[in-house]
Amino acid sequence: MLNQNATEELNRKLARAGLRSTRQREVVYGAILAKRDHPSADDIFARVKQEMPTISLATVYNCLDTLVHCGLVKQVNLERESTRYCPNLTQHAHFHDNESGRIYDVQLDSETIDKLQDLLPSEFDISSIDITFRGKAAATLEA
Ligand SMILES: [Zn+2]
Repeated sequence: MLNQNATEELNRKLARAGLRSTRQREVVYGAILAKRDHPSADDIFARVKQEMPTISLATVYNCLDTLVHCGLVKQVNLERESTRYCPNLTQHAHFHDNESGRIYDVQLDSETIDKLQDLLPSEFDISSIDITFRGKAAATLEA
């Protein structure tokens, strides 16, 4: 279930794109917010099916496209892996656990981002920065 803030955010961003909230969009967005472990579309499908047994994978994909388009979630693409979804809209890096496949958020402060941008000559115009660390996370860590 979405809390009031999340519902308002969903409605506001959908409306900005000329769209309305639907039960499916709410349930898919809710699943991504509920467990921030960067689920794939298949993971999300399995989770939303518990709440909405009649939903199809195609509908889940459509909802995900809409949520990405509206700027509510971000796609995370890693080599040779299916696309994952992240509701953290702040500038952050990812840590990918090579064994479990889990992805963790790593916050980047503005000082670090400034330093990274300074690495690039002024001829390059940055639209986004993607940083992925890889390795092994302690088993005790929560995503
Ligand atoms: Zn993330």
